[in-house]
Amino acid sequence: MLTDAHHRIIDYVRLSVTDRCNLRCTYCMPEQMRFVKSSALLTDAEIITLLETLAAAGISKVRITGGEPFLRPGLIPLLAKIKAIPGIQQIAITTNGVLTRPYIPDLKALDITHVNLSLDTLQPARFQQITRRDQFAAVTQTLDSLLAHQLQVKINVVVMDRVNTDELADFAALTREQPIAVRFIEEMPFNGQGHAFSGINWNFETILDTLREKYTLHKLPDAPHSTALNYHIPGHSGNIGVIPAYSRTFCGTCNRLRISATGSVKTCLYGHDVLNVKDLMRSGEALLPAIQQALHHRAANGFEAERLHTTAPESMSVIGG
Ligand code: SAM
Ligand code: SF4
Repeated sequence: MLTDAHHRIIDYVRLSVTDRCNLRCTYCMPEQMRFVKSSALLTDAEIITLLETLAAAGISKVRITGGEPFLRPGLIPLLAKIKAIPGIQQIAITTNGVLTRPYIPDLKALDITHVNLSLDTLQPARFQQITRRDQFAAVTQTLDSLLAHQLQVKINVVVMDRVNTDELADFAALTREQPIAVRFIEEMPFNGQGHAFSGINWNFETILDTLREKYTLHKLPDAPHSTALNYHIPGHSGNIGVIPAYSRTFCGTCNRLRISATGSVKTCLYGHDVLNVKDLMRSGEALLPAIQQALHHRAANGFEAERLHTTAPESMSVIGG
């Protein structure tokens, strides 16, 4: 079993399968983004070896992320191989929805039932401003198809001051008829210096206060390692969540490890890279002792990790959001 310096059990890995993306969300990356060469990415075989090793050490949940995961050639066969690893009980995926729709039957067939779809506005023109691309229709078609296939959909909404805060109630309204979880995420500094970041005006409390102006929110019990504070609006089919990603109220129960598409490992989103599993595998060194060692030096929380991380904020697409 993997544990950290603070006796937290680590049973969840977030794995980026590509740093490439077909959107250019302003909160995530600059317009001109440099992507790594394909040879720098973990290969399918390396991903499987890595996850087999982690699963043998107690990792039971994997979230596939990126960049945009559906830009990785052969994603569905790779997911099928991950699914077959003993010990992996749940695979989830986070996607921007641009290319996702044709693969939804495959996801369903593989029992990959948890899909997080990122959508920060319900207005096509604003979508183009936020993502710098004209793909709103593709994303909403993916949303409709995910629901039609009865997958468990969470919509990730990054709340941005003076950009989309006037749409919080509109997003909450989506939960009236559909069994969607809409999760409002505090903006974090990881934009690869796409724009200046000096803290947030909209934290989870401001978001909740604004929602309460229109809706009654009933608190739901949160799952043990949930990053979201979850609520239900009476009479609605779905739920609302707020994720204090910048306020970092959930670090005490964090059970996750992050691995980038090039194999860099972070033990905290706000921290620096602690080792590279691709380098270890390519030089024939053992993975598990190095990972356990890194966890023994894990910061207590995201504030401590941030203090120790002195370089400029990376893009979430590089970290693997
Ligand atoms: N491309 C996929 C997508 O957008 O869903 C997966 C990767 S993306 C980096 C994963 C998540 O990180 C998305 O929900 C995105 O909204 C979120 N994200 C990216 N940059 C962020 C930031 N600066 N603050 C908060 N969330 C961010
Ligand atoms: Fe791409 Fe996702 Fe980053 Fe947007 S948030 S630029 S979709 S990686």
